Amino acid sequence: MATQTCVQNAPQREEETYHAPKLQLTVADFDVLRRLGEGSFSTVILARYRADGREYAVKMINKSLVVRNKVIDYIRNERTILDRLHHPGVAELHFTFQDADSLYMGLEYCPNGELYGQLEARGKLPRADAAQWAAEVVDILGYLRSKEVIHRDLKPENLLIDAAGHLKLIDFGSAKALFMPPTVRRSGNRATSFVGTAEYVSPEVLNNTGISYAADLWALGCIIYQMLAGRPPFKAASEYLTFQRITARDLEFPEDFDPTARHLIDALVQEDPAARLGAADLSDLRAHPFFAAVDWAAGARAAPAPAL
Ligand code: ATP
Repeated sequence: MATQTCVQNAPQREEETYHAPKLQLTVADFDVLRRLGEGSFSTVILARYRADGREYAVKMINKSLVVRNKVIDYIRNERTILDRLHHPGVAELHFTFQDADSLYMGLEYCPNGELYGQLEARGKLPRADAAQWAAEVVDILGYLRSKEVIHRDLKPENLLIDAAGHLKLIDFGSAKALFMPPTVRRSGNRATSFVGTAEYVSPEVLNNTGISYAADLWALGCIIYQMLAGRPPFKAASEYLTFQRITARDLEFPEDFDPTARHLIDALVQEDPAARLGAADLSDLRAHPFFAAVDWAAGARAAPAPAL
């Protein structure tokens, strides 16, 4: 089968000048350096483009697995959404191509692993670090809102750390693209797409009812909790028990928990999506005292990233 390639028309980003690889790519154009991670239907590898030495995280998606599991729309969804997103807080999709066995997505490489890895290694983060990374997520969510995208799977595994220590969001397979006509959108039934932890999922995503931008605000509240407490708020012995805790909004704080952060998390992790701080307008969230040190006009990423 002939190899098909599509190179994104990505604009220059603030951090580097973008050079598109040549138009007709094949795997032979890359040196495989190492494996970066695994998804349900894909393996992500670090690959060097031979022509210019640039490194990319190449997501290799196994076509037969995708067909067998009936998740073609999941893959198409990620591609369509990433084509639309160009922001320093989102790992850029630079190119795609395919061969007989696989689809390949060439993503901007984030060399410092997942936020999850930092949390595993460091346990609780200092408040200033948590506020900085949380503010970066708020900026990303503001951008997604402007592009009419709800991520729906915001979690520390999907927040990668770039060379400068700032966050970049990945994994838009489960995202909801409000810019697409409802008939074309992914069905939204996530039950089959759950992999790994479901600890950051909002009640309405769990029940697949009335999904709005506020689903990502619930997840943000859970992530801030985890950065400060060293564990996610609804952690339980099994996924079933986690779901029960989420549905019951069984939210408890350690005694010594920072009161300002507690107020913020309480306002984000609200059962009623419309009641979540920032649901109507993210300015309400930016104005919370937890973010007092953030210069929103400059953008959260203008501040130094937490030391790794
Ligand atoms: P899932 O089955 O969870 O939906 P997926 O198939 O969509 O996963 P990703 O979550 O996008 O795959 O990627 C799998 C892993 O590969 C990530 O958790 C991360 O560790 C690594 N990875 C993905 N993209 C990059 C990147 N741009 N830079 C560095 N590592 C990456």
